[in-house]
Amino acid sequence: MYPIQDFIGALGAVAYSIDPITVRTKSRDYYAISPLLRNSLGGKVADIVVMPSTVEEVAIVVRAAVKHRIPIVPRGGGTANYGQSVPTLGGIVMEMTKLAGVVSVGGGVVRALAGTMASDVDAVARKSGWEMRLHPSTRSNATIAGFIAGGSGGMGSCQWGMLRDRGNITGMCVMSVEEEPRILELRGKDVELVHHAYGSNAIMLEVEMPLSPAWDWRECIVAFPDFMKAARFGVQLARETGVLKKIISLQEWPINDWMNDLRGIVPPGHTMANTMIASQCMEIFEAMVKEHGGHVASSHPEGNGPYPSPLYEYSYGHALKQVQKANPKFTALQGMFPANNLLPSIEAVHRRYAGQMPLRMEIFWSQGEVVAMGSHFILYESEKQMSDLVDFMQGEGVSVANNHASGVREVGIKVIDDRDAAFKRSMDPYNLLNPGKMDFNDEEVQKSGHVLATQGWKFKQAASA
Ligand SMILES: Cc1cc2nc3c(=O)[nH]c(=O)nc-3n(C[C@H](O)[C@H](O)[C@H](O)COP(=O)(O)OP(=O)(O)OC[C@H]3O[C@@H](n4cnc5c(N)ncnc54)[C@H](O)[C@@H]3O)c2cc1C
Repeated sequence: MYPIQDFIGALGAVAYSIDPITVRTKSRDYYAISPLLRNSLGGKVADIVVMPSTVEEVAIVVRAAVKHRIPIVPRGGGTANYGQSVPTLGGIVMEMTKLAGVVSVGGGVVRALAGTMASDVDAVARKSGWEMRLHPSTRSNATIAGFIAGGSGGMGSCQWGMLRDRGNITGMCVMSVEEEPRILELRGKDVELVHHAYGSNAIMLEVEMPLSPAWDWRECIVAFPDFMKAARFGVQLARETGVLKKIISLQEWPINDWMNDLRGIVPPGHTMANTMIASQCMEIFEAMVKEHGGHVASSHPEGNGPYPSPLYEYSYGHALKQVQKANPKFTALQGMFPANNLLPSIEAVHRRYAGQMPLRMEIFWSQGEVVAMGSHFILYESEKQMSDLVDFMQGEGVSVANNHASGVREVGIKVIDDRDAAFKRSMDPYNLLNPGKMDFNDEEVQKSGHVLATQGWKFKQAASA
């Protein structure tokens, strides 16, 4: 349906593939983690994959796509978990991983080309004693721009907050999708426009992120005899800003028993709290564990635990991936437990399904307050079962983002306002960038629908002068 041969004719030396297997593979991300997305996105395929390796090559692709009005979906490592990088209207998948390399490290910030793997950014920063403040659990195969465009936070968020918290992305260089593409440097609050917009309003070329000192981290799995003891510990640990940590992930029994790699580390019936603690904070950490009625069941330097992957690969989105190895029907929601009623809301949600479905959550900072994000792991039966759980959680004051939909509005982690609409229109006047993910015409918005009646995560309005 698109004039792909004419498009190819304009590519010059830009690498591309129309091999059906390559195109099909690059048209997918990790959306199959959701039974609902498996149904709605299966079979959506691009017409061509292009792999620019310089900014000028990105511009060549953009000029040709605009001329022929072909949609472009930017793609990093393809680890997105809501189908954000699926080309719902076909067209071009623009894989950015060849536009890679760290541009500079210094003064506590790193600047890297968009397609640089997050693990490579960390490896370069570590040479001078620094590391990324935040990284996703997919660090080894996610790009830095994919993290900013598709992610929300992760390791480090229990110390530094979410990606959307001011100061956690310091700058980015982006390209518009027009006959003659413009290149802009966004700084300050303007980076929020592109963060978590799923590549629907700009193509990131370079990003700049703040660094933190690279401590010697220890991976500690703590066992608690019941979930609420673990929750009180996790919340307190997050609030202790002097205790340096990188993850707090609580997983109720029998989640640990479902994860082959972690089975047997904590005693039967115990909740496990997976943490990463800076080695100089271990003495105070161990004292806190004791005060809260737990015991450290496993403590090893980062990457040296008696399990095959780094401990963070058993938390956040990876926790679901791990339990799906036991049963692919497991699924979850993305509830945000509110700071102003944190432990009571966790307790209410826990009590309702105690002994039936185990809870998993990460505890971290958002807008200067400690919150928790997670839900029960459930065996998927029907959309109604999921909707009932959404209703229950929202009834307990938990805000729920729809992690079974691919549109920015449905997922509801980004707050969208008139600035976003104006930015999208100016950067992508022909609505060619990742269509269907964040459109601003009424018809498209209705078409993308809401599978689950989630109201999205709630964020406080920032105070202004
Ligand atoms: C098992 C698992 C665990 C996860 N854990 C976490 C976690 O801990 N924290 C977290 O925040 N997320 C997590 N995620 C989701 C997260 O979005 C990705 O892991 C990762 O950050 C995305 O990077 P990527 O390079 O793979 O991007 P992709 O999947 O390729 O793309 C993600 C989005 O970014 C857009 N994009 C990519 N490159 C560009 C660019 N140069 N310019 C503009 N847009 C672009 C794409 O169009 C797409 O919409 C997880 C996902 C899975 C499957």
